[in-house]
Amino acid sequence: MKILVINAGSSSVKYHLYQMPQAEILAGGFVERIGEETSELSHFYNGENYTAPAKIESVEEAMKLILQTLADGQVGVLQHISEIDAVGHRVVHGGEEFTGSVIIDEEVIASIEKFADLAPLHNPPNLAGIRAAQRHLPNTVQVACFDTAFHATIPKVAYMYALPYELYEKYGIRRYGFHGISHRYVARRAAEMMGKGKYDINAITCHLGNGCSITAVKNGRSIDTSMGLTPLEGVPMGTRSGDLDPAILFYLADKGYDAKALKNLCNKQSGLLGISGVSNDMRNLEELAEKGHALAQLAIDVFCYRIKKYIGAYAAVLDTVDAVVFTAGIGENSVFMREKICNAVTQIGVQLDLAANRDAIAKEAEINTKDSQVKVFVIPTNEQTAIANDTYELARGRTSVLCGLL
Ligand code: ADP
Repeated sequence: MKILVINAGSSSVKYHLYQMPQAEILAGGFVERIGEETSELSHFYNGENYTAPAKIESVEEAMKLILQTLADGQVGVLQHISEIDAVGHRVVHGGEEFTGSVIIDEEVIASIEKFADLAPLHNPPNLAGIRAAQRHLPNTVQVACFDTAFHATIPKVAYMYALPYELYEKYGIRRYGFHGISHRYVARRAAEMMGKGKYDINAITCHLGNGCSITAVKNGRSIDTSMGLTPLEGVPMGTRSGDLDPAILFYLADKGYDAKALKNLCNKQSGLLGISGVSNDMRNLEELAEKGHALAQLAIDVFCYRIKKYIGAYAAVLDTVDAVVFTAGIGENSVFMREKICNAVTQIGVQLDLAANRDAIAKEAEINTKDSQVKVFVIPTNEQTAIANDTYELARGRTSVLCGLL
């Protein structure tokens, strides 16, 4: 089966074409800077790369170009796009309705539209990707894989905010959590690497990229996670504040900030960028801190401290921890941050093997000492393969809903 995986965002569409069940990537790439003068397609196939400028105005146009490219006589890998057996779409917000991946029908589309209210930057482009794929491949199974679905097992005690209950009933205000496809993937891999069944592991999974979230996984299921109603809550991120005293916002409102300015402040001007004043990129911050840049150092220290607090909290939530897992850009690549974080949480039984940590760059590795009570893993996340797997299972018709627990 050939499965096309689509991740459609507001300014880019990423794609991977898989041969299943081997999960071999036949081709892939992205269209970026959609809507700008300089939009461009980057495509790889059979070990070759191909880049072409393209004036792309919308996700719909990007999808059209991607499909054309996949079936192109020169750089394509298909004779015709009808060879695509199913399309798997990443969808950010599935609200409370979706506990796993689903085959897309009109009802699913209506729900994704409904949750656009909660994820205004993400669900609309995700939906545009779905509609475009449906238009170009009307007879092909389309599947939605939700970033929220893995967190559907979080118990009420962990997902309720201490606000009037009617706000939960009226507006669905609760913790949903995100990066679920990634947390599920790395938790499953960690279980495999420990020789455990997927429901036999207690882990704290740390997805540390531009967006960052930490999840408490008990018996293979998410029972708490740091992101909330939106991806703004939790640890500080590249440009997002993470947890704040909400009264800061009222205080700033009194100083003249309106809702739009506050949203922009918390989402775009805070986090590592906000504190350091210079960059949201951990690589830059590490370099600057090394040279004595005090605010870059402070940004790193705050980031690490807040991660320590979450790991400590989740160790308490889980009772016993088998593994701490690092993934995403910082988690997979930053030897320095992993060392700093692990040294900050030795009290939960983590002992880092410094040499193993140094070697573990962008590859799967166990980086704890032999005596460590808690395993520490680096596991590159692979959201697109997780989506390809779910899409494959659904397209094979064994079930129309793939529970997040599978
Ligand atoms: P996104 O959340 O946008 O997918 P990524 O998972 O690619 O982001 O993570 C981006 C982050 O990873 C950036 O802060 C970047 O600086 C950081 N990063 C990537 N490589 C390294 C590295 N070698 N050392 C430190 N940080 C790194």
